[in-house]
Amino acid sequence: MIIKLLDIEDNFVLKGNLEMATLSNACKLASPVHYELVIKKNKDTLSIKGNLDCIVYLTCSRCLDEFPYMINTKVDFKMMSQDLAPHEPELELKRDEMDIYYYEGNEIELEPILNEEIMLNIPIKPLCKESCKGLCQVCGKNMNYEQCDCSKSLDTVLGEKLKNFLN
Ligand SMILES: [Zn+2]
Ligand SMILES: [Zn+2]
Repeated sequence: MIIKLLDIEDNFVLKGNLEMATLSNACKLASPVHYELVIKKNKDTLSIKGNLDCIVYLTCSRCLDEFPYMINTKVDFKMMSQDLAPHEPELELKRDEMDIYYYEGNEIELEPILNEEIMLNIPIKPLCKESCKGLCQVCGKNMNYEQCDCSKSLDTVLGEKLKNFLN
């Protein structure tokens, strides 16, 4: 989706639904990305603020199940022409730290920006639920669905050792 800079007036409201199948980190999307943004024009920059929501499929870091995860986030970033971007190597590094995106020519491509903003909201260690029991370390069963005897037998072994120790 491409927005022409000429079409943007101050306080331009941009809203809609963007269909994306996957994010650039390979996360699948379970819904279109709904966005509502207000664009303010400054001298050299555009300030963009608004809201994004969508549902992504994540893999639980404990049980490895895939689960839908709702993202609903505020966004607040700036855009600047690539021509004004710093070119010295040390400044290039800093570019990542600032909430600035660059556009080339007179067009803004929205999809990579929304993609990036969504990825910033994905937890590093996603959990299908706070109480997820994870996989058994011994037999690999998903403990949310089935119980195994591994921990029980481990307990018995420990219990025996303790009994022997106390005697
Ligand atoms: Zn889980
Ligand atoms: Zn087990």
